[in-house]
Amino acid sequence: MRDWLATADGASPWPQARVLVAGLGTSGFAAADGLLELGADVQVVDASDSATNAERATLLETLGAHVRLGAGSTDRLPADVDLVVTSPGWRPSTPLLRQAAAAGVPVWGEVELAWRLSGPAKRVPWLAVTGTNGKTTTVQMLESMLRAAGLRTGAFGNVGRPLMEAVLDPEPYDVLAVELSSFQLHWSHSLQMHSAAVLNLQPDHLEWYADADDPMAAYRRDKALVYERVTHSCVYNVADRATEQMVEEADVTEGARAIGFTLGTPAPSMIGVVDDLIVDRAFVAQRRDSALELAKLSDVTPFAPHNVANALAAAALARSFGVPAAAVAEGLRTLTPGEHRIQTVLERDGVRWVDDSKATNPHAAGASLSAFESVVWVAGGQAKGTTFDDLVTRHAGRLRGAVLLGVDRAVVAGALRRHAPDVPVIEVPGTHTGVMEDVVRAAAGLARPGDVVLLAPGCASLDMWPGYGARGDAFAAAARSLAPPGPAGE
Ligand code: ADP
Repeated sequence: MRDWLATADGASPWPQARVLVAGLGTSGFAAADGLLELGADVQVVDASDSATNAERATLLETLGAHVRLGAGSTDRLPADVDLVVTSPGWRPSTPLLRQAAAAGVPVWGEVELAWRLSGPAKRVPWLAVTGTNGKTTTVQMLESMLRAAGLRTGAFGNVGRPLMEAVLDPEPYDVLAVELSSFQLHWSHSLQMHSAAVLNLQPDHLEWYADADDPMAAYRRDKALVYERVTHSCVYNVADRATEQMVEEADVTEGARAIGFTLGTPAPSMIGVVDDLIVDRAFVAQRRDSALELAKLSDVTPFAPHNVANALAAAALARSFGVPAAAVAEGLRTLTPGEHRIQTVLERDGVRWVDDSKATNPHAAGASLSAFESVVWVAGGQAKGTTFDDLVTRHAGRLRGAVLLGVDRAVVAGALRRHAPDVPVIEVPGTHTGVMEDVVRAAAGLARPGDVVLLAPGCASLDMWPGYGARGDAFAAAARSLAPPGPAGE
């Protein structure tokens, strides 16, 4: 192993390094591309030889990489590798990563690589967001606020744009809005955020941590890494004690502050809500006895309690970087809400059809349900080892009915039977995509004027669709093509 790797940055002798990029996804491609540009010896492996991978492989080979695709290519760590850069999806128990650990070869994620390579010449402040739910929305709000303040910025990381892109961009950024998943944090070791927020912590992705003695504790530990070494503000959720504890336990840079966000009235060093305003009692000189108006609640779209929470967290990060109040409000107002996140796709016969396909775990589905009074709930898919008992107990009162689909529909059905026995439940069997038409027909049958039919599955979509986007599109298309009700008496 190369000793200099322990403190490597963009100025290190990369042409001496032999790097294995494990996984040729978006971030693996960006990592390989950046390393080749620095002159490193790059090998890439991926067990899938899909058309996309083959195309990426051809490109990288032209640039000098050695790429191996297909079954068997990822079985063993080649000899003489100095560093492995892994895809975030790879679990630590993957044989190749196990072999790297046993051989003392460092394993970084693409985020760690980008952070290292940005130093010393291209280092700019990163404002980071993690948490179980709301990351992408919050990062997009933050990016919009930073832009409204006239800063050159972008949203990177788990939002879908690799951080290597920011590092390779010849034009310098002022600041980055960075979404980090627990997996990305797991494979990061030296990040030092200007400021960071953990929005909430709920069970999710526990399969990834299945090899840990306590999967939930391992998931929490990875989320908490975002606060390590923070230089300015550690933003936590006042309503989620776990996030505050993470700040208390973090080893931050001297002088860094803990900043809370709350849907209630803020205490000093918090951002919160007073009447219909978002107010700052953290980044104002007179915070003991005054607060500064940042924005109106009506600037937040779509309006739902969890989305206000996201706006508060984004505002805290923006303010920690010195963004003026007016830019916080303008950033919220000019933001176009993301697709498949509480998106109204149809209103007909007094029934509103809402696509929140992005609600892929019970906590997200719960937030979504809270936004409506009377709901026909469409749920199910891959439950990823989570349970629905708390969710159903909390929201039983707003359920007109439920329509369940997907491989783990029985998990949701069981919770409904136990905690909401009076709620009508229709299970739609089958795991082919045509099922969605039956689901929508069943939901239409249960809905009454004034109701919302809400696709908030609380589960991943991969049992039936390539992703949550396709699931949401199928829901919207089926709802729109639903035959109008026939004549009375039919
Ligand atoms: P992530 O990037 O963390 O997956 P998104 O911003 O894409 O989060 O939102 C995913 C889903 O989580 C939304 O569709 C909504 O159902 C739910 N959600 C968003 N923000 C929150 C929050 N602060 N608390 C709970 N659930 C939320």
